[in-house]
Amino acid sequence: MAAVTSAAEVVDVLRAALGGEVIGPEDAGFDLQRKTFNAMVDARPVAIAHCASREDVVNALAAGSGFPIAIRGGGTSDASTVDGGIVIDLSALDAIEIDVESRTARVGGGVTWGELDAATQEHGLAVTGARLSALGVVGVALGEGSGWLERALGPTSSSVVGTEAVESDGLRVVTRLDLRLHPVGPELLCGFLSFPRERAPEVARAYRDHMERASDQVGGGLLLGAGLGGVCTIVFCYLGTVEPEAFNLDLSFRILFMVVIGGLGTVLGSFLGAAFVTLMPVFLSVTVRFLDSVLGLRIAESTISNLELMVFGALIIFFLIVEPHGLARLWQIGKEKLRLWPFPH
Ligand SMILES: Cc1cc2nc3c(=O)[nH]c(=O)nc-3n(C[C@H](O)[C@H](O)[C@H](O)COP(=O)(O)OP(=O)(O)OC[C@H]3O[C@@H](n4cnc5c(N)ncnc54)[C@H](O)[C@@H]3O)c2cc1C
Repeated sequence: MAAVTSAAEVVDVLRAALGGEVIGPEDAGFDLQRKTFNAMVDARPVAIAHCASREDVVNALAAGSGFPIAIRGGGTSDASTVDGGIVIDLSALDAIEIDVESRTARVGGGVTWGELDAATQEHGLAVTGARLSALGVVGVALGEGSGWLERALGPTSSSVVGTEAVESDGLRVVTRLDLRLHPVGPELLCGFLSFPRERAPEVARAYRDHMERASDQVGGGLLLGAGLGGVCTIVFCYLGTVEPEAFNLDLSFRILFMVVIGGLGTVLGSFLGAAFVTLMPVFLSVTVRFLDSVLGLRIAESTISNLELMVFGALIIFFLIVEPHGLARLWQIGKEKLRLWPFPH
């Protein structure tokens, strides 16, 4: 293909050569498409060439020879546009093939991490990736690639097992990347903790000390700046085997009942709360069986479990309002009274 010399004709030449869409300054959508993740970048390329195949990339590079070229994967960096040049937009190279047997993924040059993570998680697989779903897979992998899973799986680049690229005039456009996948999820324990600005130094030190000792199965990051409900935020994820039973709602409520009824923050309170939460249903069921055998009073299982909830609910309200230190405090008061009795004076 003959190289183009004028900016005016480059759009037409690209349109004739490419299967993908070509956007010029005169087209609707140009202003939107010339923007990058960083809204302060205001470059005006002469054309935005969407390459839908490897051949499109070859043809776009040939047609644009002599123009500055910007390669756009996820489009998150300032380098994904260029004043007076051609943007090679790879977003149409969006194929993702997962081979579950060999645990590999073949990824088009314009796939983003959000797209790849969604596809790999269908099979409980993942690769380190990055911390922002909009980032391009290739753009991140060409650097070292740092993500939530890196402590367990290593940097993203360590999972690259193959590439297919088009090279021209010192430019290398990756049209396909092959990645090794690792078993991760699909159930993970993730979350974040936000703190006010004044606690940032203390939180940063505690996070650093904790992560130095933490298992590789724990990933995370410390964010400083606005967002996620605070100015100092720890994001964490845990890749180890998550026992769904350990985190079910029923168990969480039981632990809450235990803490509130037993008493906040004391070993005795936890002990009394645990004993109460365990023995109360036993006591109710024995009482019901007794009523059944002696009085012939039949009470349905569902009524018993509702009764249990009502007793717990009433006790929680009672303890929160009247005695926040729970059974532990009542035990202490009882002991004091018994020591004084029968000589209160
Ligand atoms: C908000 C934000 C958060 C970030 N978070 C992380 C993070 O958590 N972890 C991390 O490792 N990095 C992070 N980065 C850095 C990021 O990895 C790099 O900026 C990366 O280059 C972005 O790639 P992209 O495809 O999204 O962006 P683009 O701007 O499209 O691409 C950037 C450059 O990568 C090259 N490139 C992209 N695709 C191809 C391709 N198919 N073939 C050849 N070259 C290509 C080109 O040189 C291109 O100019 C972050 C950046 C930003 C702006």
